[in-house]
Amino acid sequence: MYDNSRILYDRATKVIPGGVNSPIRFFEPFPFFAASANGSSVTSSDHISYIDYCMGYGSLILGHANTEILEAVKSQLSIGSLYCIPTEKEVVLGEMIAQLIPACEMTRVVNSGTEATMNAIRLARAHTRRSKVIKFEGCYHGAQDYSLVSRDSFGHSIPSSNGIPKEFSSETIVVPFNDLAQLEEVMRERDDISCVILEPVPANMGLIIPDKEYLTSIRKITLEKNVVLIFDEVVTGFRLATGGASEFFGIKPDIITFSKSVANGFSLATICGKRELLEQFTPSGDVYQASTYAGNPVAVTAAIATLSALIRGRDQIYPRMTRICDSLTDGIKEAAHQRKIPCRVSNISSMYQVFFTSSEVRDMASAKKSNLDRFNVLFRALLDKGVFIPPSQFETCFLSYSHADEDIDRTIEAYDYAFSLMSLKK
Ligand SMILES: *Cc1c(COP(=O)(O)O)cnc(C)c1O
Repeated sequence: MYDNSRILYDRATKVIPGGVNSPIRFFEPFPFFAASANGSSVTSSDHISYIDYCMGYGSLILGHANTEILEAVKSQLSIGSLYCIPTEKEVVLGEMIAQLIPACEMTRVVNSGTEATMNAIRLARAHTRRSKVIKFEGCYHGAQDYSLVSRDSFGHSIPSSNGIPKEFSSETIVVPFNDLAQLEEVMRERDDISCVILEPVPANMGLIIPDKEYLTSIRKITLEKNVVLIFDEVVTGFRLATGGASEFFGIKPDIITFSKSVANGFSLATICGKRELLEQFTPSGDVYQASTYAGNPVAVTAAIATLSALIRGRDQIYPRMTRICDSLTDGIKEAAHQRKIPCRVSNISSMYQVFFTSSEVRDMASAKKSNLDRFNVLFRALLDKGVFIPPSQFETCFLSYSHADEDIDRTIEAYDYAFSLMSLKK
């Protein structure tokens, strides 16, 4: 059934480490290989179609191969793909973001979320002349040295990858999410904090919903201590609303990083924020940041087309995505209840995740209580029924504007099938 993917995987492991170009793409015994995609669906090299809830980890908010975005990109391709000379389109993109989001007075465009958070932290350090970074356990800010940090059982910072010096990770202090007291304690004790960086709605430890007033309180204490607040909105930007989490929760951070939904599947990311912070970037300031492909006209064209479509359609797009995500998660909860499978479902706007635990999931520690064997049964069973979700409990499922009501019905049936396998196993 998966013969073509198996052959491709064998070839891949000979020339690509682990057979994949990003580790999350691997799952046991080998991943299926994608051949094409359209709308809400992705088709494998084995000629099997799946309803996609990975959607480029949330990037494809308007669906795969969206005609409007593709037409815009095609017309750009025929007049050049890289100039390394400024273009009018870059100005237009900066203006669009500034108009949409009051916190984004200026924008610098880069290529990936990792680059965006790395440079956002550099800005904060330069601005405050302090070095320490506070991040939250389970929040992900890309594969860079200052954010690949976790806590050991004593609460000490440790690198979460080999190859990162301890000296680097000791610059980052890790606190649990949704625990204001612990954050306040660190902020009270220290005066060497440059910035607090967080996903306002964490989507990289499964999906976690912030407590009411939690984000407002973080904004308050960072202002009091003159600490730069960085919202890493690589996932939430343009997804929770056209103005992302800052609009959704009514909070004005100092710096915001965007990437996934901004260009509907083309590689573009941005560092946005206050003029006095952003103007520190070279050549106007002396914080060095540079990239050959930054602001390339192909990705910028995709971003302008995506944002234009989202702004034009916002009164239909966001309510519809929320409505179908709500009916999907209602259906999943009902099926789990009928099959007597204890689980918690997090959902907000067009994102959701199911955890196999009966206790509340509000941070990394509680997310880890989920029964991972059950998650793996779920993942395989959904695949068998033609539904693809990210292959890890600690990721988030994403809907797009192209998901149809029939997709939702089929997906609920697939979850019900998965739960039926679990109740047999008990
Ligand atoms: C995906 C992600 C990143 C990293 O983006 P890349 O483009 O993969 O480098 C950073 N922050 C968050 C919140 C993300 O989800």
